[in-house]
Formats: sequence, structure tokens, C-alpha cells
Amino acid sequence: MILQVSDLSVSFGGTQVVDRISFGVDRGRTLGIVGESGSGKSVSSLAVMGLHRTASVEGSIVFDGEELVGAPAERLRSLRGSRMAMIFQDPLSSLHPFYTVGDQIAEAYRLHRRTSRKVARERAVEMLAEVGIPAPRQRAREHPHRFSGGMRQRVMIAMALSCEPDLLIADEPTTALDVTVQAQILELIARIQADRGLAVIMITHDLGVVARVADEVLVMYGGRTAEHADARTVFKSAAHPYTQGLLASVPGVAQERLVAIPGSPPSPLAPPPGCRFHPRCAHALEVCTAEQPALLGGGHKVACHLEGAAP
Ligand code: SF4
Repeated sequence: MILQVSDLSVSFGGTQVVDRISFGVDRGRTLGIVGESGSGKSVSSLAVMGLHRTASVEGSIVFDGEELVGAPAERLRSLRGSRMAMIFQDPLSSLHPFYTVGDQIAEAYRLHRRTSRKVARERAVEMLAEVGIPAPRQRAREHPHRFSGGMRQRVMIAMALSCEPDLLIADEPTTALDVTVQAQILELIARIQADRGLAVIMITHDLGVVARVADEVLVMYGGRTAEHADARTVFKSAAHPYTQGLLASVPGVAQERLVAIPGSPPSPLAPPPGCRFHPRCAHALEVCTAEQPALLGGGHKVACHLEGAAP
């Protein structure tokens, strides 16, 4: 495993937002982390990148054999961008409006590689070509506002991959894009992954996205793992009522009629006792309101009193 996260907990000022989650991802593989907003899915990935300066992080994050929890900030900075990279939902907020996209990719490259500006600029053009931007030499001289949403996301991918990282964390990378462009970006990530043997963590609220790309799926709810299995198992035989609810709201994955899960996700400030999903769960038992279900199972892990251990 290039990344192995074990019993990761993250708190901000005494409020726990991630509660003992574990996952791993290997080169050439994609892990989908799924959940609604506030589920802790983005917080977990930011913890992997060492981007939570104000958080208390417990557990273990081992990247290529090196423990990152407690590692010096300088070490994390040097890994970020060079060996671990991240792309976000909104590329415009990550791109500086005043600089050309070529200069921004070149500068990101020069942060980690000691090269001349000229070599870095050539690298930027090469990367823009790799992510499918037409006329890359000319477009490298343009500013971000001249690019469409899909093209800006391609620029971010070019920047993220310029130093040839081993791990790419993509946090809702296609949420702001229309369906056609979304498919193109997912295909691009898959192609680059296959070419480079990248490990990818795809963070999304959309099981439809995960169905297209993930080898393995971790479903988070209220900061905890609800279900964790290979993608085929999750889509064929989801065992947790929350995962089943998510599947029922994805067109074409489980059924034709869309059903939204009633209610809203819990606040980390006042999570419900017992199973955090119980106020929204149609199958809740009395025990669910008082006792937290353990995460049980081998290859197919489920945290639900109904299941015990999944088959
Ligand atoms: Fe529903 Fe109870 Fe299972 Fe939670 S533990 S998902 S409330 S049945």
C-alpha cells in the first residue's frame, strides 16, 4: 500500500469530526470515499495531506512506509505537491487570477524541482498537452478566466501532476461541472492513472461518480465508517441502510425511481447517541438509539446492528 490510514481521528477544539477511520490505497487503484457534506470525508483527506494546522490528529497515516502523524510541517510541505497532490471542486479559487496558467504550473513545479524558469515553463506546456488542452503553448500564456470550468479543472490536474506524485486526492473534482464535462474529467483522471500507476482517492457525495471509477468504496456518515468494501460488493449488495439510501438516490445504479434519504446529516457539535444514522434510518431498532454499532466484517465491513458481520 502506498497509503495506509489506521484509526484516524480528527478533532477541532474538542469537537470530533472524524472518528477512528481506516483505509488504504495502492498504486494504480482508486478508493472512493463517499458521504454527504459534514461526513468527515474531506477532513480525512486534508489530514492525510497534513493541511490541518489547528486540528488534533490521532491514529496513523503511513505514506510509502513513512508515518505522517506527528511529522514535521516542513516534511509534510515537501511531500505535498511532489509525492501527494490534491485537486478540489472549485479550480478558480485555487488559481491566481493575475498570473497566466503556464506561470502558475511552472511555479508549482519549481517549488519542488530545482530547475530554471525556462525548463519549468516547458514542463507546464507539456502538462497542458497531457491533460488535453488544445494549443497548449498558446494557452499557457492565458489567464484562468479565459478557461471554461472543465478546462480549468484540467489545468489543476496538470498542476497537481507536474511533479509526478504517487497519490492524487480528488475532492469533488467534477461536482461543479456539467455531466458531459464531468465524464471527460473522470476519463482523463483514469487515463493518467493507468499511464502513471497513480493511487487515487476520489472524495464525493455522488455514488454515481464512484460507480464509474472506484475499485474500493468507503462510505462515511457522521465522521464514522458506515460501510467499506470493494466497489462491486457495495453496488451489488450494500448492507448498511445509509449506503442503500445513497444507492437509491443515484439514477441508473440501483433502480429507476429516485428516493432521497429523509432528514439531514448530524452536526459534529451534537451528534445523536448510538448509531449516528438512527434519526434517519427506517430500520432503526431500540438498541440503535443507545449503542454505537461496531464496524464488523472482513472484506466487507459494515457498522449496523441489523447486520452484525456481513457475509
Ligand atoms: Fe439503522 Fe440501526 Fe443499522 Fe444504524 S445501526 S443503520 S439505525 S439499523
